Amino acid sequence: MDSRAATNHSITDSRPVTSPDLRDCQCPICKTRSLRSSYEKCFDPTQIYEDGIVCESCGQGFDVVWGVPFLGVFEEADVLSLIEIAANADNYKRASLLCEESPTGAAGLEYARWHDLLEGYHLSPDRQAFLAGQGVSAEVLSWFPNRYGEHVLFRSITAGLDLSNEHVLDVGAGSGFDSYKFVRAGSHVTCLEFSPILAHAGLRNVPQARWIGGSSKVLPFSAGAFDLVVANAALHHIRDIPRTISEMLRVLKPGGYLLTLCDSYRRNDSDEDVEINVFKDNTAVLSGVNENIPRFDDFVLSLLKHRDRLDIRIFTSEVHGVQRNWLARKLRLPRIGKQHGLHPKEWALEEALDILPTTSGGLALLVRLEHAISDEQLRPADGAIRPGGFARSLDSQASAVAELASHIPSGFVDMPLLDERHRKFCLLNGWKPTVPGQGHRTAYHRARVFHTNRGRDALHVTVLAPHLQRCDSPTLELLINGRLVATRLLCRGLWTDIVVPIDSVERDRVIAVELRLTTSLAEDEAKLFHVRHIGFGDRRPEHRRSEADLEHYGVEALAEIGLLSSNPVRMVLSDDYAHAISTLNRLRTMGFDAEVIAPRDQQRFFLSEPRVKVVGAYDKFSKDGSAGFDSKEGIVLIVARDRPSAEALLSLCVDERGLAHCFAVLPGGHVVVCGKAPRARSVGGAAIGKIGAAVTSFTQVLAHMLKRAAASR
Ligand SMILES: [Zn+2]
Repeated sequence: MDSRAATNHSITDSRPVTSPDLRDCQCPICKTRSLRSSYEKCFDPTQIYEDGIVCESCGQGFDVVWGVPFLGVFEEADVLSLIEIAANADNYKRASLLCEESPTGAAGLEYARWHDLLEGYHLSPDRQAFLAGQGVSAEVLSWFPNRYGEHVLFRSITAGLDLSNEHVLDVGAGSGFDSYKFVRAGSHVTCLEFSPILAHAGLRNVPQARWIGGSSKVLPFSAGAFDLVVANAALHHIRDIPRTISEMLRVLKPGGYLLTLCDSYRRNDSDEDVEINVFKDNTAVLSGVNENIPRFDDFVLSLLKHRDRLDIRIFTSEVHGVQRNWLARKLRLPRIGKQHGLHPKEWALEEALDILPTTSGGLALLVRLEHAISDEQLRPADGAIRPGGFARSLDSQASAVAELASHIPSGFVDMPLLDERHRKFCLLNGWKPTVPGQGHRTAYHRARVFHTNRGRDALHVTVLAPHLQRCDSPTLELLINGRLVATRLLCRGLWTDIVVPIDSVERDRVIAVELRLTTSLAEDEAKLFHVRHIGFGDRRPEHRRSEADLEHYGVEALAEIGLLSSNPVRMVLSDDYAHAISTLNRLRTMGFDAEVIAPRDQQRFFLSEPRVKVVGAYDKFSKDGSAGFDSKEGIVLIVARDRPSAEALLSLCVDERGLAHCFAVLPGGHVVVCGKAPRARSVGGAAIGKIGAAVTSFTQVLAHMLKRAAASR
């Protein structure tokens, strides 16, 4: 057996083998058509073959990864994307990436079935009835409007093209969903994809296409190889769009078409703020999907350079910010709407170049190459990462992340938590932009930093989960270089200090530290967390709970820090019944019983509630507060619609011995302190006691209460 073959290749393996189809391929280094398979001409699609393909002219080797020849390398600027892939490697394994299971189609539906569904819906005289009769899942239905919008756009723009028997290159093919449209239309399809994981999925989803791994900036194909080159929702993921478009034009036959679809663009004079504002709440971007909104010029610069050799058609799916001139207003010309509906608007070229640079929206291009173009061809960057080695490293998530972390550009290493630079890099690593004066940074679901450990022996993190609307048991996982080193249970609303010994971490090397919040709650808000410190420090005992952020915690936190020490909890309920029940449920979950004082007309609703005793009732508020409670003793909580109504309820409780202030639980779960500023020496209530004349604010009252609670434990 060839020594370059995959180490764990088994000759008894009966799985199918693929032959590399290198027609029209060229070496991305020396640009000659000298690529040859170096190993038996067959590749097991479950294995990795380093140097499985060799250039006979310059001697450069290329890897075949899981059945896909990778005719290129990864550059340093790709490292973040590779870390994202590596950090999820265990998930891919769980999804049986390398097993012989059925392909994972979009939303669990095979691509052929998806396209039948979209086309059937489009042609059906009664679309709703058609869809209802297909028995599709709710998940598929949730994707359907988007997919259908793209389907109509594709149909509309390609209406005049005969795709049968055409040689089509799909740049940035992903896992092949859109490539399948061309397979279906009878084209000979080549798919180019950067990610080995996606390319492998694509090979299984759309085996009718030829799959090649590589970079769109250095297309590994000879000039004039294709009748149609398409980038479907791909260009805005690519760093160098003008370069990519030049390359796409180079590999077109004269008479062939360049087609780009589903890209967002922004005004030429706009800056990064536009992107940051769009993406700061985008959970896909916060999870590492590198979406961009390029400037309009990024899409057209390379085309305009060769304007005399091209027939350029520009379409928009939507446009924002069109400035109408006074003549148009006077003539009452039809307004250029924000949305064109499902059908794209085609622009006259001069009009597009005049108007679109000052707008933003969705863009599509259909460009016919009249005469061949020969731009200078780039070589891939040196010192880059080999796809085969990278893919092999995914066997161990930890070692893959560790290896990649050392490739992170130095500007992104040891950044302070509240650094306001590199906002896009931070977004992709899970961090929202900093908010001035806030003192912490908010992350979504998982967040990553790259730090150098200069000889300290512990990792310190201070974290808080702010979503209080529903209770759960969120946990924070800490990973160092992809390896799980600690798991801590959080109490929502409370800052938690975590100190993890890190004996095994190499010193003076760049280390990837990742925080992951896991929760049983589905809403995005529940996956947010705040971090106010992260870094290396000295080993010391962990203070499980740090002091509370006094106006920002939930009823669970109140119990956690010992401020709900009496059981049953005596409480006053406002007439917001749903809120009352929700709070009672939360208390019961924590093992508390409740004694409630309820509005008189709702009293009976609580009689059948388990572990709830109605100890009093009150009538509507009256000005003098004399409507009165049957019992005012030992009230700990007020459950109210808002702070004023909590204050009003509190004022009903106050007498000489009664409370001057109290905790109020508001809808959304936040606990606040309500009441008058405690001037008296005694503020009453069992938990509070005498706190002296120095007290001037509730913050101090609470700080005192916390201290007492801590001392009594
Ligand atoms: Zn070569």
